[in-house]
This record gives sequence, C-alpha cells and structure tokens, in this order.
Amino acid sequence: MQLRSLIPAIIAGFFLVFQGCNEKEAMFDLFAGTLPIFEVSDGESLFYTTPRSLFLRMMDDAIELEGEIYSIERTSEDDQQVTFLASFPLETDVTVTAMTYRKSDQTLTLEIGSLGKSVNLELFDAMIERKANEYIEVDLAADISHLSDNQKEMLGLLFQVADIMEELYWAQVFPDKEAALSSMTNEYVIRFFKINYGPWERLNGNLPYLSDYGKKPAGSGYYPADMTLEEFESLEDDAKTSLYTLITRNSEGNLKVIPYHVAYADQVEKAAVLLREAAELAEDEGFKKYLQLRAEALLTDDYYPSDMAWMDMKDNDIDFVVGPIETYEDALFNYKAAHESFILIKDKTWSEKLAHINSVLPQMQKSLPVPENYKSETPGSDSDLGAYDVVYYTGDCNAGSKTIAINLPNDERVQANKGSRKLQLKNAIRYKFEEILVPIGMVLIAEEQREHVTFDAFFENTMYHEVAHGLGINQTLDGRTVRSALKEQYSALEEGKADILGLYLITQMKEMGMMEEKDLMDNYVTFMTSIFRSIRFGVASSHGKANMIRFYYFQEMGAFTKDLGTGTYQINFEKMQLAMNSLANLILTTQGDGNYELAKRLVEEKGFIREELQADLDRLKDLSIPVDIVFNQGPELLGL
Ligand SMILES: [Zn+2]
Repeated sequence: MQLRSLIPAIIAGFFLVFQGCNEKEAMFDLFAGTLPIFEVSDGESLFYTTPRSLFLRMMDDAIELEGEIYSIERTSEDDQQVTFLASFPLETDVTVTAMTYRKSDQTLTLEIGSLGKSVNLELFDAMIERKANEYIEVDLAADISHLSDNQKEMLGLLFQVADIMEELYWAQVFPDKEAALSSMTNEYVIRFFKINYGPWERLNGNLPYLSDYGKKPAGSGYYPADMTLEEFESLEDDAKTSLYTLITRNSEGNLKVIPYHVAYADQVEKAAVLLREAAELAEDEGFKKYLQLRAEALLTDDYYPSDMAWMDMKDNDIDFVVGPIETYEDALFNYKAAHESFILIKDKTWSEKLAHINSVLPQMQKSLPVPENYKSETPGSDSDLGAYDVVYYTGDCNAGSKTIAINLPNDERVQANKGSRKLQLKNAIRYKFEEILVPIGMVLIAEEQREHVTFDAFFENTMYHEVAHGLGINQTLDGRTVRSALKEQYSALEEGKADILGLYLITQMKEMGMMEEKDLMDNYVTFMTSIFRSIRFGVASSHGKANMIRFYYFQEMGAFTKDLGTGTYQINFEKMQLAMNSLANLILTTQGDGNYELAKRLVEEKGFIREELQADLDRLKDLSIPVDIVFNQGPELLGL
C-alpha cells in the first residue's frame, strides 16, 4: 500500500506562494538517518522493516523524501521545538504521522503512529561529522632500530607494493574514486569516504550515507551490477568461481571471465618487479624465496607455491602479507578475493610466549564437544603463532573495521599440508582495547564485573580465536569442502566457530592445568564486552553477524542477564559455559553436515540487531565511544 498525501504539482504551487514569506530557519535543510529494523504487524502476520538510509529535505510546508514531495502541517512551535502533522510512507505499513524538530540539537524525530515507534534524523552535516569522528586516529609506529640497512631499504619497496594493493582494491570496490573525491568539498565526507572505500557505510550494513547512491552491489565490483543469478548459473566457464577472476561483459553484452593477472596486468607487473627487488635485499632465505614466489603468483594467479613458502618462513624480522586474499567483499558468493597487504615487524619476545600452544592442538581437537566424526581431521601441528607490530594496512584489511589478527593461508590444500600461521597484531589490539573495549565495559558491563575486562584476556581471546580456526573440520562428512557447502553463509559461521572455540580452548586448557594461575572470568567478561564491540561492525560484516548470533544465543541460554535499572549486563559463569559448549556443538555439526539451510536460518533468525540491543548501541554512540580505529601510517612514521 502506497500512501501519497497530495499530488506533487499542488505542493509545488504552495511553494511558489509561500516560499518568499518565511524567514530562513535552520531546520530547512537535509536530514539523514537510518530506518532500523522494526517489528511490524499487518494484522495477520509479523514482519520486519528493511534497514534503509533516509535522506529527508525539510521545506516550508512539505518534505522531500526519495524524490517525492509530501505536504506537512505545522501544529505548534515554542522555544524548544516545532511539531508537524504528516502522512508519508517509509515503507508499506510504516507511515510517518507526526514530526518534531528539536531546536537544541537540531534533530528531527519521525513518529510512526501505528507502530508507536520513532526514528531520529540528524542534520546531514552533523551526522557525517559524527560518523567520521567515530573512528579514532592512532599512529602505526614500531621500533625498527634492530633492522639492518638492507632491511630498511627493503621495507621502502614493500610500502610501494602495498600501495599497489590499495589501488587494486579501490578498482574492485569503487573504480570511480577520483571522480567522486574531486566532487566532494566537506572534509568529513571525504574522510568517511576514504575510511569506507566508497559511499556505503561498512559498519552500518553497507547502507549508503550519501543521498546520490543506491544500494551497494552484493558482488561489489567483481561482477556486472546488473547480472542475474540465472545468468551466472548458465555461464559455462569453470573459472567463473575462481578466487582470482573478474566477471565482466563482452561487446555483445554476454558474461565473460577475466583472470586478475590479465585485468590488472599493469599493476601486477609493477608489483612483481618491486617484490623481486625486495627479495634481492632480503637476508632471510625463507623470506627471499617467499617474495620471489609471490611476485610469480601475482603474474599467474597461482598462489599455492608462495603460500607454501610463506608457511616455511619462521625466523624473519619482517613479514609481508600481500595479494588477493579474503573473500568477504564478495557478499554475493564469497568467491572473489580482495587485494590487501600488511607490513609487519615481528615481536620476538611475545612470539616466544605463544610458541607452546601448537603442541596441544591435536589434544584440543579431540576434546571438542561433538561426536568423533565431526573432529576426525588432525589440525596441522606445524602451525606457527606469532606476535607482530603492524606498520601498514592497505586495501581490504583497511576498509571498515580493522583486522587485529591474521590466520592464513586460506587455501585448504596448504592448511592440510602445513597448517596455518596465526599473526597477532599486538599494537593494533592494544589500541582497540584502550580506545574501545574499556569504555564499552564502563557503560554496558555490571559495575562489579568491570575489573574482569583486561588486556591480557582480550589478547588471549583474540589469539585463541585464530588458533580455533584450525580446529573442527574443513571437509563435510560427505566429502565436500565446508566453504563450498555453506556458500555465502560460510564466513559468518566460520568466524562464529573461531570465537566460541577460542573461548572453549582457553577453558579446556585452564581446566587441564595447562595455563598458569588465571581467572577464567576475565576471559568470559572480556569476551562478552567484545561482543558489543563487534556487533557495532554491523550485518555487512561476517564478524558482526557472528556476534549477533552469539548474543541472542547466549541470551536465550541465560549466559547473561540485563539489569534494567542500570542498563548493564551481568555474566553468569556456569550458564555461559553451558551456552558455549552448546553453541560450539551447533556450529561444528552444521559445518560437518554442510547444512546450508540450517546455517542460513541461524543467520536469518539471529544475525541482526533488535531494538533493545540497538538502544544499548545507541548509548555507546551518544557517549562518542569510537567504533573503530583508523591509522596514521606510512614510511615516514618509521623514519624511513
Ligand atoms: Zn577469524
């Protein structure tokens, strides 16, 4: 049902008559906000509103919303506010019936009478400034005084390769970058555009934050925006599902598959030359070999040999993660890998502390709370766990929420052969703890439990998350890969698995006496606090989704309770353990069965933010607690 109060032409007439009479008021401007998920009943069934960006322009006796003009009627005005009667739809059965403009903070509240709900809009300029400031800037520096001159020179080359990855990532997610930027004048819009790598807000469900843009294409720039699923299904080319191909259209308008090394020939050739020069300077034999093979990989799209070489590297001071790696950006199928890079300096002291964990992994795998056939694979004991300071993020890992731990390679063949390497980005983890986690705990965790929010627990939980990616199984019981069986739901399930098994591992190791004196409550309370942190990453993020699922699962199991008086959450230790075991079992068996339908249902039923939780997140927003960090980074920060 579409409601339209008056014919636009009549409204336009009103304007011509009245526009000149009114003095210009602050409220005649562009307002913006997000329509959240509301529960709506049409009398027979319940449904939920679709989250959407709202851009509403206030005019004298009318508003403009999505190109339509609707009349409004001013009903009162005093020093504090102006009220209006209105009747315009946000979507079917969701009609704005009244509006209040509050002068003190220049906000506009839309009342949806039939639902008894309201939506708050801000002046667009104020909103974009607030959003840009939700990212706190920190310096990415590290001590490199122990590096040789050769190593420092090599670092300079790696920075150049990293910048090429940045360029390729932009080409994949928003090729019109330069044109868009050159049309922008508002400094906060520019800052926010760069943080999000485009006009869609990554930590708000990829909704557009600029009124000129529609929905973000699910397949990002990896497929033609107008491609239908049937069209893709009927394309006969095995390379169409490859991680390293683009789907475009030929001159007849038919789909065609182009390998990355062809599509990006200029950039990868340049990167390969730089990588080979860097290899000349490398002092560590393993690193030298890896850089040479990585150069080759960029030119051929065969990453297997370089991934294997990367696994063999153990003792180098510097590490460089580079190439097309994660598939999160392709929300359509999770097929296509996005370019990125990290430049890392190894922290040898911390790395030594982590070394012992690998030896207990096979034993931990056996302890998982599932039947034998769901844990029949042997986790690679060759896995390497290290702590690093990260000095450069480019491309995919720098978009939206910043990665604080790396578990690579993703190639199951390499994992089966050599396990994987887990890199903890210690300086980034500490920034997130200090700037975000502690302040969240101060607001949302029961006062008497706040002392349990600790850096050590946060670092441990993060570290064991990465270890836990290596547990469970990569192959379903009937022999498919879990990734292919769970398709676009794979990432959320896999991240959910790593989170819950990470906590499970810590619990097991403590109970088996493998950990020194520690209070598990630190890990549990810090884990819960971090759920709020990650939920703020939104539904567009696999990590965000995984945390929402866990929040509601925990709530149903009584793992925490909320004190409505103080608005804080209290963890129940015993029930949290039960919930942890049962969720671990649910995820592991869903993966083992390759049960796509169940995975999908779990994400659909629990993978979104309901109103009460949204109200808690809004409190964090009102207190200006940063959502994430952004980096002041580059060779100059290292004195290069
Ligand atoms: Zn993970």
